[in-house]
Amino acid sequence: MPGAHTRQTAFPPSAMRPMDGQTELAVAEAIAATGTRPERVTRLLASAFETIGDEASSAGAARGLSSGTREWLVQCAACAFRSDINWFEATCEKCGEPYDLSLDLWTATKVKTQLFDPIVTVETSIGTRAFHVPTGWHEEQFARQRQSDDSRRGFAGVCGMSDDDADEAEQFNEHDLVLIDEAIEASSPEVADQAVTTCPSCGEETSTQIDPLLFAFPRESDVLKATHLIATAYGWSQDQILRLSARHRNHLAELISRDRGPAWRTAG
Ligand SMILES: [Zn+2]
Repeated sequence: MPGAHTRQTAFPPSAMRPMDGQTELAVAEAIAATGTRPERVTRLLASAFETIGDEASSAGAARGLSSGTREWLVQCAACAFRSDINWFEATCEKCGEPYDLSLDLWTATKVKTQLFDPIVTVETSIGTRAFHVPTGWHEEQFARQRQSDDSRRGFAGVCGMSDDDADEAEQFNEHDLVLIDEAIEASSPEVADQAVTTCPSCGEETSTQIDPLLFAFPRESDVLKATHLIATAYGWSQDQILRLSARHRNHLAELISRDRGPAWRTAG
């Protein structure tokens, strides 16, 4: 309800689950799952975090967070899992050639305290209308519907707060869409998820969206391979092995594979 809302913390204090094999496996499954990116992010946040803000982490809690907060938490989780990652590969939007981009996710996650309004009002051509600043729930709805070619119109539909928001979204003119987009953008938490650089192939400026889901999280196959290796060597149960820290587990797997020869070498 316009006027009846309170400002929210963009970057709430959060605590991750213990960094053991169980968490890694749950995160790996979330990343590998079928479904839209927003759905995978929801699962990832529910798996990786113990608490977000004052709440215990869950799919429902992750869905209720603003899109900016979710991206920031994904970056924080990426840092916790792979603090060693300092580059990733992107494709030039001008010439299409791949390039390596140095990346400091750790710095990106160091953000100042920020409050934002979860609801904005806009004077549109059909009257004053209120819109939610997108949360995970809106992202999931939007990704599922995909009815509009124009993402601004699509988001105006799912984020609109009137009773017939879907119909109204079709009535907004170009100027309305610009105003709605700007109002939502201005109120959204600011997250450093874009990198701009000069392409080494064509020399043009190019920008890319940093998506930690693509490179920063454990892979199911790696966790399972190390688990299998330790199980066959020591006879421990999967549960016991998954309670080891990732560091401990990988170290043991490395020692065992070294004893057994190259065919058993673990990846990464
Ligand atoms: Zn290029």
